Order: sequence, then structure tokens, then C-alpha cells
Amino acid sequence: MGKPWDASVTVLQGVGSVREKALERMGIRTLGDLLMTFPRGYCDVAGGGGLAGAQPGALTAALVRAVSSPVTLRPRPGLTLVRCDVQGDGRRAQCLWYNQPWIAQQLHAGEDYLAIGRADFQQGTLRLLSPDLEPWQGQDFPPVLPLYPLTRGLSQRIFRSLTAQALRRVVGSLPDPLPAAFRRTYGLCERNYALEHAHYPATLETCRAARERLALEEMLLYMLALGDARARRAQEGLAPALPASEGLLEALRQGLGFPLTGAQERVLGEVLSDMAGTRPMNRMVQGDVGSGKTAVALMALAVAAGNGRQGALMAPTEILAVQLYQGACQLLEPLGFRVGLLTGSMKAGEKRQARAAIAQGEWDVAVGTHALIQGDVAFHDLALVVTDEQHRFGVRQRKALSGKASAPHTLVMSATPVPRSLALVLYGDLELSVVDELPPGRKPVITKLVPPSRRAAMLDYIAREAAQGRQTYIVCPAIDPGEGPPLRSASALYRELTAGPLRDTPTALVHGRMSAAAKDEALEAFRRGEVRVLVSTTVIEVGINVPQATIMVIEDADRFGLAQLHQLRGRVGRSSLTSYCFLLCGDVGEAARERLGVLTASHDGFVVAEKDLALRGPGEFLGTRQAGALDPRLMALLQDPALLERVRAMADAVWAPELPASQRDPLLEAARKRYAALYQDVILN
Ligand code: ADP
Ligand code: MG
Repeated sequence: MGKPWDASVTVLQGVGSVREKALERMGIRTLGDLLMTFPRGYCDVAGGGGLAGAQPGALTAALVRAVSSPVTLRPRPGLTLVRCDVQGDGRRAQCLWYNQPWIAQQLHAGEDYLAIGRADFQQGTLRLLSPDLEPWQGQDFPPVLPLYPLTRGLSQRIFRSLTAQALRRVVGSLPDPLPAAFRRTYGLCERNYALEHAHYPATLETCRAARERLALEEMLLYMLALGDARARRAQEGLAPALPASEGLLEALRQGLGFPLTGAQERVLGEVLSDMAGTRPMNRMVQGDVGSGKTAVALMALAVAAGNGRQGALMAPTEILAVQLYQGACQLLEPLGFRVGLLTGSMKAGEKRQARAAIAQGEWDVAVGTHALIQGDVAFHDLALVVTDEQHRFGVRQRKALSGKASAPHTLVMSATPVPRSLALVLYGDLELSVVDELPPGRKPVITKLVPPSRRAAMLDYIAREAAQGRQTYIVCPAIDPGEGPPLRSASALYRELTAGPLRDTPTALVHGRMSAAAKDEALEAFRRGEVRVLVSTTVIEVGINVPQATIMVIEDADRFGLAQLHQLRGRVGRSSLTSYCFLLCGDVGEAARERLGVLTASHDGFVVAEKDLALRGPGEFLGTRQAGALDPRLMALLQDPALLERVRAMADAVWAPELPASQRDPLLEAARKRYAALYQDVILN
């Protein structure tokens, strides 16, 4: 990157120490950081994008006139509300500010403002929540107004002035990693142009092209880096051949207590055939929640141990690690294998012992959390590495565990079904196996949207079911009551329920800020059935298995992604009893209802994922956590699933033998440079 890109934001007019701190809170220190903070949305204010087109949940910009004087209310201690009625585009709306009492002094009836805030509807009234206000006296705005994510101390007007100044300094200085000929072939705009138009597009169409270009570049270089790493890996170290003996497989099948499904058999066959060879396995197992990926993983680990080598199984949370450890003990110990557990919350002495057992090869299989990839863990003879719920780990962490042996076989298991088109981009260095069948006898979870008016009846039902021994999860998006529009928080809900509707029902609370011991205690009590209702945050999302639980309640369901909701729903429906999933949502608008409707209509995680991808676009679908090494700021620009096919076609064309090396090499060079960190990991292993 050129010099201006790395210059401090303090070179800009209007950035003193206060704004420098505010920008810093957003992770912005340089002009490059600033310009990589893309608008969350755009508004064609003049072209009817204002109040008339306001969608619930969406950031909305509108030219409005205050039609009343602001009113300040104090509904309860600690909460100040400022309310003002406005009008624009022939439509009325109510502006509301939480705990910003000074707004009342800045607002005057009869004056005009540009208001930018999140829209919602409350009993049919359009509201703008804590909008950013700029007095408007007929001055010009950019034709398409960028709407930036902000933090306290920054306004849209100021942020616009900063990005405009930064662009003036930076544009023209950025090299383009995509050669001109390549851009022409694929109709991609130039990089400086793209950056400028991602902030200040002339039209919504140039905006789309600019954002696409930036996101495509990121994904293309990522795919090329993965493909390159895969090609190199094929030429290096040999993995130990780990053939499976028929006798061992037979004993494992007996031990499981159920016959494998056809899909499990097929995937197990793919895994074992990789392991029997000396080319290091690099395979991902995808499968819906409850499809039985664990059984496949445990059998693979047993086969490694059966060859006298070590296996490791890494899970993203303590809860899950403990559960997998128990499962591994149950299946493997009767066959004479030694299984151990290593997690971060263990006492120093226990950890020391665990590390010694791993180093001396006393343990055949080590189960654990991130603790397994710490520098002080050395394996005696690691031959197979399995990571469960892999979307929680970045590529680097996966590689760190593989790096504990010279060339182990690696198996990663994905918690959430990812549409194939996306999996091929994200996991381009892995072979893909899909467990596309559920064990027999599973009943679909009956899924319903529950409006606030039915909430009390639902809680009654839960209490009655609890009295009969059935168990319920209630999941909230937040731990503590937060700011702004109130979300249900787990701790507040727990107090409310145990004081009221669930007074006589044994209920417990679990969230991520509790100590591991307290969490375990609550979960264990739930597992034993002593606790009938578990109020929690999404800590229970991943992998928890309590078959007697039959009801899943999700508060503020519209706040979750579909894939996550499906994952949560997968916690119930794990026995022969009929299970229910209740999605609570208030006045959330048409788009959110349509989205949630996908869940009431389908039980297949791959179908849900495809719909989610189509509705939200790859960027939002991925969020930050699945993107791995990809820059989430660039991924957020991706809105069209069809781009995934486009980027794959581009990558294929780069690898095609007929492409002259003179055209391929600069692209590979750019890929290596951008993903240097990823590279190191891949090449070291
Ligand atoms: P996931 O794929 O979500 O990790 P699990 O491996 O946790 O699913 O399996 C979910 C449940 O299904 C477990 O209780 C497991 O014992 C059970 N199970 C797995 N495979 C089968 C099968 N073939 N037949 C019956 N039950 C199975
Ligand atoms: Mg699992």
C-alpha cells in the first residue's frame, strides 16, 4: 500500500484528540482503516429513498421537518426518552432517543433536518430510533448518500467529511493486484475507482459494481492462496498410513449401539480411505445438526489409535469438549484405548499431568479446547487431528493443531450446513463429505412464530410440560439488559420468569460470563433432568445433547441468523417425543417474517442455509465468524450469491493450464502476499 493509505487519521481536518479516540474505538487509525469502513447502506434521499421507503430494521435517511417540539420523558429511573414527531415524503414518523437528553435542545419545531436512523414500527407507527440529525438548509448531498456505522462522538456528517478527505489523498495511489487484461475479461472496475465509488457512488448501480469488485478480489485471492497451498501440500511430507482393521470396526459398530445411516457409512468410507493412504487427509464433513457426525469422528480416532498412533479432537467450547470427551470414553475405553481431556479451565497441576500424558503417549486420544494448540503441548505421535464445529475456528487455529505433527491426517466437522457454492470458496483446500441423512425415527420439530400476545399462554404450557418431566431451553440474544431498544436479556428474563410464570418450575441460568464451574453445574443439573427450564444465551448453541429436552424458545428470534436458529432448534427433537420450537418476535415487519417463515416451512439445514444465503447475501450470511481469514469488512460488501459462482469460474480460469504463466504469476504473487499469515501456517504443517 502507498503512503497515504497508512497515514494517521490525524492528518485530516476535523480530527482532534476526541475524534481520534472515537475513531480508535471503531478500530480506525489510518486512512486505510477509515476507507475500509464501508457504508452499511446507502440512501437515494432525493430519489424516494427516505421515509416513504422506510423498512423496519433498516437504516433510513430522510429529509424531515419537526412538526412538534421535542418532549422529554422519564419512564423509569435511568432511562430518559426524547420524542419528536416529524414529517417527510408525505409520511409521519416519530423520532426517539434513548438517554440522549441534550437532543431536546438541538431540535426545533418547524425546522428541517436530515435524519439517519434505524426504522421500526410500533403498533403501526413508523419510528426512527436514535437518529443522527443534521440541520438542513437546502444544501446539496451526494447523489447517493452513504450511511456509515458510527460510534458515540461521530455523526454521519463528520464521517462523510473524513472519508471524502481521505479519498482525495488516497485515490490514485493504490496498486491494483488484478492485471488490466484480467479486469477486462471479467468486467471488473479498477481498484481506485472501486474504492471511491464504494463510498460515493454516482448511482446505486455503480455502487454495486464497486463493492462487488472489492469483494470479488478478496475472495479470488483467497481461493488462489488455498489452491496454491493445496498444490504444494500434495508435494510434501507423507502422512502415516492408518488402515482400519475389520475387527476394530466391528467392535466399534457394536459399541455404538445403533446401526450407522447410509450417509454415515458413506462418509466413514471416504474418511477411512483417505486415512489408509499416505497423502495427508484434508477433509471436511458437513452435516445437519443431529446427523451423527460425532460417531464418524470417534471411529476415525479409534482407527488412528488402533494403529498405535495418537489422535486429537478439538472443540470450540468447554461444554462441548467435555461432552465429546464423555462420548469418546464411552466408545473407546472398553476397547482398551486411553482417552484424556485438556481444557483451559483445568487446574495448573491437572494441565501439567495432561500435557505429560500427551507427550509420553499415555493417551491415545486427547480431547480438548484451544488448550490443545498451546505452545506447551507436544504430542508423542500425533497422526489424526479432528476439529469439531469448525466454523468457530479460523484456518490458522486448525493449522496450529495440525502443526503439532509433521503431516497428520486432518478432519474438520462443520456445525452448520453451508451451501455448496460457498463451501467451495471458503474451504477450497479441503475435500468435502456430506452426511445428508438423519438417523431414523427423528420427528421434525414443530416450529411456530409466537406473537407477544401468545407469550403468557406459551409460558403456561412450558410450566405444565415441565411438571410432566419435559424440559425447555429459552435462548436470549443478550446477557444483560443493554442500551437502546430493549432486547430480552437472559439474566433479566431469568429473574422475571422465576418470580412469575415459572415460580414453581426448577429453572437455571447459563451464560458465557459465568465461571466454567457454575456453567457446568447448571448444565449438569439440566442434563440430569433436575432443572426443567434452562434460560441461556447462545452458549448452548453448539453441540449440546440433552435428548429429554423437547421445547426450544428463542426470544427476539429476528435478531439471529437462520442458520443459527436452525442450529438452536437442533437442540430439541432428539428423542421419539414430539418437540417444539417457538420463535418469539414482536412487530418485526414483512422481511423478517418471511425470513423466519423459512424455518417454519423447512427442517433441512441445507435448505435453510440456501434460503438464508439467497435472502441475506453471502456477506451477511457469513457474518464475521465463518469468514475465517477473509476480511469481514470486504465480505460485508457481498450481497449476491451468484457472485460465488463468478469467483469460482475466475479461479478455475486462473488455474487452467492454457493460461500463460505470465498472467497467472502476478495473481498468485498477490494472493501469497495478501494471505502471508495463512500461508505460513499451511506450509509449516
Ligand atoms: P451432530 O452431527 O450434530 O454432531 P451428533 O453426532 O451429536 O450429531 O448425533 C446426534 C445424536 O444422534 C446423538 O445422540 C447420537 O448418539 C445419535 N446418533 C448418531 N448416529 C445415529 C444413528 N445412526 N442412529 C441413531 N442415532 C444416532
Ligand atoms: Mg456435533
